[in-house]
Amino acid sequence: MSDECKTCSRDDCPAKSQKPGESAEEYKARQALTARMCQIRHKLVVLSGKGGVGKSTVSVNLAAALARAGRKVGLLDVDIHGPSIPRLLDLEGRNVEGTDHSLFPLKVSDRLSVMSIGLLLRGANDAVIWRGPMKYNAIQQFLRDVEWGELDYLIVDCPPGTGDEPLAVVQLIGDADAAVVVTTPQDLSVADVRRSIAFCRRLELPVLGVIENMSGFTCPSCGQRVDIFGVGGGEKLAAEAGVSFLGAIPIDVEVMRSGERGQPIVDSKPDSETAKAFQRVIEAITAREEKDA
Ligand code: ADP
Repeated sequence: MSDECKTCSRDDCPAKSQKPGESAEEYKARQALTARMCQIRHKLVVLSGKGGVGKSTVSVNLAAALARAGRKVGLLDVDIHGPSIPRLLDLEGRNVEGTDHSLFPLKVSDRLSVMSIGLLLRGANDAVIWRGPMKYNAIQQFLRDVEWGELDYLIVDCPPGTGDEPLAVVQLIGDADAAVVVTTPQDLSVADVRRSIAFCRRLELPVLGVIENMSGFTCPSCGQRVDIFGVGGGEKLAAEAGVSFLGAIPIDVEVMRSGERGQPIVDSKPDSETAKAFQRVIEAITAREEKDA
């Protein structure tokens, strides 16, 4: 791909002129990043206040459900210290090809491609010990060099919290993007999400909405519903923060089993109640496409 953006006709495109104090090399890198981002219609940054709430599981299922709905989707895992997307899509051990300025994502299906820091590590158990600037550079390279082609959606799975990686993603990705915040229903998790929303607001990143994961459990034997982590915390928080509530995903052992097998539940059990819950979230997300066009 050329360094110059050929698709953009915007006179106010930020890559059209060099910024004061910017070196020629920095300018070239920024142009290349802008050109890449211009090929992607919607960029969704998936955040959570803390780990273990199912953020990566939700990212994978959102990406797969969007692809099933006919969208061309890229899934980028920037969880440098705990990349779980390769495991959730059975891609561990697969080789990523690249050249000096290009990385080729792995194709999961005709409409879904994936790139993860985990695919570049030698082994699934390798630990990355990087300081902030190294993380920033790696994320910049990921956003700039991955050859997605044209995409309807790029889903970026960030590590939990409001640290270096989400900050780098939001700073680098450009203007036409939004955050999806994943939480579990209990108060402790909801309190962390307030920080994620405050983070987005400080960075002027619109919040597309909140998803409540692990929201209630229906016993597969007796059909009785048990609200293990409570229920409704995400919806309450969304209302309180003035952002949309995108939907609730139940606790479902099949979500965990599908993840272990490397297949999202929206593909392995598309008719299940849980897959339908993801489907409703996708409808809420795609409903805004016309508004954004
Ligand atoms: P995070 O990215 O927030 O750290 P993960 O997506 O890795 O969380 O999920 C943590 C664990 O919870 C995984 O074992 C996953 O299979 C499980 N999990 C996530 N969502 C659900 C759900 N809705 N029902 C059952 N298990 C889930």
